[in-house]
Amino acid sequence: MISVNDARRILSENLERAKSKNISLNDSLGLILAVDVYSPIDVPSFDNSAMDGYAMKFDSSRNSWESGSVIQAGDTNAYKVKEGTAARIFTGAKIPQGVDTVIPQELIERDEATGRISYDQDKIQTGSNIRLKGSQCKKEELIAEKGTPVTPGLIGLLASVGLNKVEVYTPATVTYIITGDELKEAGTALKEGEIYNSNGPMLEALLKNAGIKEISGLKATDDKEELQEKINKALAASNVLIISGGISVGDYDFVKECLEKAGVKELFYKIKQRPGKPMYAGRKGDKYIFALPGNPASVLSCFNQYVKPSLKYLAGKEKVWEADAVLSLAADQKKKEGLTFFLKGRMEQDEVIIPGGQQSFNLLAFSTANCLVELEEDKEEIKARTPVNVFYL
Ligand code: AMP
Ligand code: MG
Repeated sequence: MISVNDARRILSENLERAKSKNISLNDSLGLILAVDVYSPIDVPSFDNSAMDGYAMKFDSSRNSWESGSVIQAGDTNAYKVKEGTAARIFTGAKIPQGVDTVIPQELIERDEATGRISYDQDKIQTGSNIRLKGSQCKKEELIAEKGTPVTPGLIGLLASVGLNKVEVYTPATVTYIITGDELKEAGTALKEGEIYNSNGPMLEALLKNAGIKEISGLKATDDKEELQEKINKALAASNVLIISGGISVGDYDFVKECLEKAGVKELFYKIKQRPGKPMYAGRKGDKYIFALPGNPASVLSCFNQYVKPSLKYLAGKEKVWEADAVLSLAADQKKKEGLTFFLKGRMEQDEVIIPGGQQSFNLLAFSTANCLVELEEDKEEIKARTPVNVFYL
């Protein structure tokens, strides 16, 4: 049996990212840049007005000017403004030749009869209200680094320099298999001895939350042949396979045997942790397999600790094994020495509270828990106020 940190290390040593892809900017939200991005142009690519107003060569000895041409945003004509005159100009319009200043229209008084304009000298300085060429970024300048998540803002930046495609890591495709003869779907009637399949809907949601777009779900009874067939099918179809249940030592737990038959190489089996001790991870070429014990708390905890970081790494993220926060434990906790505990927790300000009902079959605390709290393997008692690793759910 290995420690939690060994399991993290083995996974991090084995995970290899797939090649990146050049995709449409429109499809890139939430993905990770696979290359540094340089601007192909100066932005702005021409000096332009930051205001609606009047453009002129500023002369502090005069405050009255003839109004000349009218220049709208998008007007590509080459205007020339003579000294002593002002052009009507609008936000984003190209600054004409001979102009060094734009005076906002709010500061101008215009004589309708003569077309002359006047303004308060004190409020204006030479160079005001002009956005200079290249003031956002220069051609060939680095504007976003490899590893940056694509946010709506980054999409705006990339579009502003004229890019409509972007090189990103694409997330893994995932198939999950739910195993167990006892399982029925919510919305149908239960016979005594049967339970509802809660891991299926939970895994579906966990995968969506982890940014996975291509998700397939399969179900298998505890029948070796059926399980084998579903495992083979899933391995052919997806980059990552997650299995719920059937990985313990019961007489009907065939998952490990079927994975071996399918040519999967074991990376580890059994971790010194609670919940989720009999967790298995394996690899077949560039495919990764996670078999999680069927108890819902084990599925949630093992997904959070091992599957989610692995999926994030495959999708191009860095530092995926670090805790999300370190918070102070609200009350004393007792635990078994020799096992790392992952408890459902609720963050409140800088504290984390551990609600009751932590057994691996019990889902009630899931309704209020917003994190998992890691309690170290070699401890038996952890005192209130001790800083603990917290992982967001
Ligand atoms: P297993 O790992 O297959 O031995 O299952 C361990 C426990 O988790 C058993 O009590 C199962 O009934 C329960 N279990 C397994 N799969 C699911 C599931 N999809 N939804 C809810 N409970 C499950
Ligand atoms: Mg089972």
